[in-house]
Amino acid sequence: MKMNIIAIDGSSATGKGTLGAKLSKELDFAYLDTGALYRGTGYALLQAGKDPSDESAAVAVAKSFPTEKMLQLQNESAIRNETIGKAASIVSAIPSVREALFQFQRRFAEHPVHPDGTPAKGAILDGRDIGTVICPDAKWKIFLTARAEIRAQRRYKELQLKGNCVIYETVLSDILSRDKRDSERATAPLKPADDAFILDTSDLTPTDVYTRVIRFMNGVE
Ligand code: C5P
Repeated sequence: MKMNIIAIDGSSATGKGTLGAKLSKELDFAYLDTGALYRGTGYALLQAGKDPSDESAAVAVAKSFPTEKMLQLQNESAIRNETIGKAASIVSAIPSVREALFQFQRRFAEHPVHPDGTPAKGAILDGRDIGTVICPDAKWKIFLTARAEIRAQRRYKELQLKGNCVIYETVLSDILSRDKRDSERATAPLKPADDAFILDTSDLTPTDVYTRVIRFMNGVE
């Protein structure tokens, strides 16, 4: 039987987080941003002066996170920059790191709880491999795409609003190289599940995206 799980996959700045947060609020589903797990691993490695491609150090970090810490990572602002995004993308290509983070994600999907500990009606996980590897049994699979230039614009504005001094061309090239690494890796590459609803968000507002996804969930799209 398919579980009450919404899997949202796609590359960076396609609108996964905005969609996940809105669905979580409207449907009373618990939400997990799985990118934060890889970002948290990359961040801890850099803090310790280690190379993100150091397999044994990366696995040790991923295995060391208690459940509480894994749940909190998505709220940490220190992991929200491109240095950590790149480190996350490097650690996430290591199969044993993915394996170390698998059980936590699976358990969250099967027993979804809100941050205050109350049970939720279902789970929403966003990432790169949710519909293909973590939750192949999800009832709804959504794969968001958007043109790279649009995604770079979104990220650029976001970073500027946070007060960062950024160059658009650098943001674009960072996005392209992260896409390449995430799509070309051997383990759990970024790709839509066969039964995913694929939506290009380039010319859509967050409300448009939400409306289209609800239509898909209701079997209209
Ligand atoms: O989604 P976000 O940009 O926070 O993810 C950071 C990086 O973590 C991605 O570029 C990707 O390499 C990795 N990731 C992953 N699998 C996931 C979520 C994120 O490999 N399920």
